Amino acid sequence: MNDHIYLDYAAATPMDPEVLAEMTPYFSEKFYNPSATYMAAIGVRKDLDAARAQVALVLGARPSEIVFTAGATEANNLVIRGVMAQYPDSNIIVSSVEHDSVLLPAREFESKEATVDAKGIVDVDALIKMIDDQTVLVSVMYANNEIGSIQPVHQIALALEQIRKDRRRAGSERPLYLHTDAAQAANYLDLHVSRLGVDFMTLNGGKIYGPKQSGVLFASSQARFRPQIVGGGQERGQRGGTENVAGSIGMAKALTKAQEMRAEETARLKELQNLFFDLLEKAIPGIVINGSRKNRLPNNVHITIPGQDNERVLIELDEAGILAAAGSACSASNEEPSHVLRACALSDEDAQSSLRFSMGRDTSERAVRKAVETLTNIVA
Ligand code: PLP
Repeated sequence: MNDHIYLDYAAATPMDPEVLAEMTPYFSEKFYNPSATYMAAIGVRKDLDAARAQVALVLGARPSEIVFTAGATEANNLVIRGVMAQYPDSNIIVSSVEHDSVLLPAREFESKEATVDAKGIVDVDALIKMIDDQTVLVSVMYANNEIGSIQPVHQIALALEQIRKDRRRAGSERPLYLHTDAAQAANYLDLHVSRLGVDFMTLNGGKIYGPKQSGVLFASSQARFRPQIVGGGQERGQRGGTENVAGSIGMAKALTKAQEMRAEETARLKELQNLFFDLLEKAIPGIVINGSRKNRLPNNVHITIPGQDNERVLIELDEAGILAAAGSACSASNEEPSHVLRACALSDEDAQSSLRFSMGRDTSERAVRKAVETLTNIVA
């Protein structure tokens, strides 16, 4: 491994060697197209089906409800464009802190964006009030990629259930689906879809020590949506194109392992997170911790150091061997201040003085101490 300290796990995770080992044969001796008819290909088809069943098991879903995609962006586009195409005279409600791969497709349709409080947590009452008879889809992420805030998805699910009942009583046939983008959540939170109460869930292999451009859309068998990539009828017609067998095998293994490690990693990182915050607060006067301390991913440390230009700090951190982020890497090409921080009522100036450190499996106490010490020297 490199000798730098990597603190950008929310952007990308290194591949787990066990995941890579499971994938490798599908690039070489098991390269066959799973739709081919000879026995060798049928073996690959069975392995792909097993991966699908493995993902379904983690989610408490049926294998037929798992659509393999090329990452979370595609899964988010598929559910939003797919549902809105199926129900054209409808509207969609999303939270204002969604990833752009939810926000941008939603804005193609009649849509509203529910506000969050200063900690980045969705105002459930305000969101529920936005729902009208034409609303067909609500999309609220499970955990935010910038400030790590965990959203009250289950509470929203319960409120939607009541609205569905009222609709049925009033004779309406319009469904009301709940989607959650769980791309950042899968290492740390329970993904059981019926416990959570969601109809759609997005997952991403590249955030869980699996391959980039691998992902899953869980789509409840009750839910209707139009496929957005059509072709050879793969994925039960819901996502055309020869299957990324290695990627899907890797996704399944990565997800299973992430969930097996979930409790232990959550406890370990929670301690490191507390240490990180404590050291920062002691060392850097005026520092502000963004987001909720309680409803927060255990690996996320997001701060504002008023008056410090985050780009300059990041370059100096990089030179000192500490790799961190200003916001989400996924929108790094975007020069605008983060819409998430704006939604949390940070000024543009404070947003530009904000840093995200995101920890992961290889983060040690030594790394945390070194990062804080380096940052303190830079901003002193
Ligand atoms: N959703 C969330 C919450 C994310 O954090 C990301 C990536 O950071 C995505 C979606 C998009 O993932 P990808 O770029 O792998 O498609």
